[in-house]
Amino acid sequence: MSNQSNTATFDAERVRADFPILHQDVNGHPLVYLDNAATTQKPRAVIQAIVDYYEQDNSNVHRGAHALADRATEKFEGARVKVAGFINAAEPRQIIWTRGTTEGINLVASSWGRANLSSGDRILVSAMEHHSNIVPWQLIAAEKGAVVESIPVNAEGAIDLAAFESMLDDRVKMVACGHVSNAFGTVNPVQDIARLAQGVGALTLIDGAQAVGHWPVDVQALDCDFYVFSAHKLFGPTGLGVLYGKTALLEAMPPYQSGGEMIESVSFDGTTFNQLPYKFEAGTPDIAGVIGLGAAIDYVQGLDRDGAAKHEAALLAYAEERAKATPGIRLVGTAANKTSVMSFLLEGAHPNDVGLLLDQQGVAVRTGNHCAQPIMEQFGIPGTVRASFSFYNTRADVDRLFEALDKARQFLV
Ligand SMILES: *Cc1c(COP(=O)(O)O)cnc(C)c1O
Repeated sequence: MSNQSNTATFDAERVRADFPILHQDVNGHPLVYLDNAATTQKPRAVIQAIVDYYEQDNSNVHRGAHALADRATEKFEGARVKVAGFINAAEPRQIIWTRGTTEGINLVASSWGRANLSSGDRILVSAMEHHSNIVPWQLIAAEKGAVVESIPVNAEGAIDLAAFESMLDDRVKMVACGHVSNAFGTVNPVQDIARLAQGVGALTLIDGAQAVGHWPVDVQALDCDFYVFSAHKLFGPTGLGVLYGKTALLEAMPPYQSGGEMIESVSFDGTTFNQLPYKFEAGTPDIAGVIGLGAAIDYVQGLDRDGAAKHEAALLAYAEERAKATPGIRLVGTAANKTSVMSFLLEGAHPNDVGLLLDQQGVAVRTGNHCAQPIMEQFGIPGTVRASFSFYNTRADVDRLFEALDKARQFLV
């Protein structure tokens, strides 16, 4: 494994300079931020775009008859075009603003689900989904008499594709699956999953929350029906997300929430709805957030993305190599195809205690079940310690993690 040659092409140190938050001490130590799967940090360009919007352009969008409204609308709709290009959607109107991945899934489950599911229908979700890709399906299934079934995941934390294929029949109406597992970093074969689902006429929703920040995603190549992600895991602001859908499906779906913006005309005899994407965007949207996401996409596209992905892969390989060489560390989630997440246990120690001791040394990780209780239960563990990487992390960060783990172990074991 030649980590050196991979990292040499991407200058993480230079990129770190773009992220003000990374340059601070925490508990008397320089911060090492390894909680990128929970949220990524924001480059100065994103923070500045939001400040500029509020200082110069703040206005409501679409309705205004003045210069500020025009500027705000232009930036807001410009960001939609950027997102469409970023995931290779055919048209910007296929990009719907949501509050996040969670709301995107809820939108599809309630709008598409209410109109299309009936008694006896089956919804398949992988056993390692985030709760937000399980519970919305359970709620709509309960309402419609459908069932939610889990696609088996093996001991390495990979989807059992043969088992998935054997579950498929014409009662399966929706397959909902993460592109990358937030608990383990497993990259799921979502293109194969979409193709197999199509074979029985089922739709696919891909949860891309952990994918879009790591390498280019092409929704047309994946040929999924829906794709969702959150701005805040893509170096943008919190409280904003994206739902992509195939045009014909979105057009046929009833509104999700109702109010201003999503209507064409309202009368007490009946109301008609606006066209895509506005049909699904009731009320004043998160204009500043959308503009911030546009800046985040500009930032990411200005990087050497291939170099960044290789750098992250090399960091993960280096971290896992060190973990395997450290007695008492057990890696959880060891699938062949992984990205940027190292989940592990320190033998004899509760993950929460490990997290606290790392924090005291300035190393930020996440501990717990990572909103994926079913798979933790299957593995018979309360949770894990999760170190998750982004392109601004370095080998020095990994070294600090293992130094801190050494110290933590002296306290705990
Ligand atoms: C973070 C995450 C979510 C939830 O995203 P929100 O921004 O909280 O809506 C869903 N799925 C995965 C895989 C995630 O990592």
